[in-house]
Amino acid sequence: EATHVAQFLDRTVEPYTEIAASQGKKLVMEPVADFKATLDQNLIHQLMNILIDNAMKYSPKGSTITVTAKLVNRKWQLIVADQGIGIQLADRKRIFDRFYRVDTSRSRQTGGNGLGLSIAQWIVSLHHGTIAVRDNQPHGSQFVATLPLNPENGLTSRHEKKPKKK
Ligand code: ATP
Repeated sequence: EATHVAQFLDRTVEPYTEIAASQGKKLVMEPVADFKATLDQNLIHQLMNILIDNAMKYSPKGSTITVTAKLVNRKWQLIVADQGIGIQLADRKRIFDRFYRVDTSRSRQTGGNGLGLSIAQWIVSLHHGTIAVRDNQPHGSQFVATLPLNPENGLTSRHEKKPKKK
C-alpha cells in the first residue's frame, strides 16, 4: 500500500526531462535511498508538476534543475532546486498565497495565475506536511516539502464530507 518513493519519483520525473531538454535545460534526478511512504500518488505527482514547472519557468537556458528526496527522522523531504532568478525574502511567505505573483518582468513574460504554489501548499497539508522555500547555492531557489512517512491519521480526504442524512 505504501509507495516506494525512489521508484515513484523516477517514473514521475522521467517525462519532464524531455520537456526540460527541449527548453535547453537539464533536469536531473538525484539518487534516492530505498524507503516507503504513505502518499497519494496523483496528488504528489501534481505537486511535482507544479514545482518542476516553476523551476523551469523561472530559470535560464543552460541551467540545471535537480529533484531529490531525503529521509529525515520519521519524515521524508521532496526537494526541487533550480539555478534561476530566486525569490526575495519579502516575497517568500506570500508566494504560497492564492493569486500572488512576484512582480518581475520574468513573471510577466511567463504568465500564470499565481495558483500553482497555493495548490502545492494544499496538497502538502493534506499529507500533514509542510512546504518551504530557501536559497539554492550559488543562486536560485529550493522548494522543500517535508512529509511524514506514515501520516498518523492517514491522508485527510480530499473530497468534501457528505452531509449526514437525517
Ligand atoms: P501558475 O499558477 O501558472 O503556477 P505562477 O507560477 O505565477 O502561475 P505560483 O506557482 O503560485 O504561480 O508561483 C507564485 C510566484 O512565485 C510566481 O509568480 C513567481 O513569481 C514565484 N516563483 C515560484 N516558483 C519560483 C521559482 N522556482 N523561482 C523563482 N520564482 C518562483
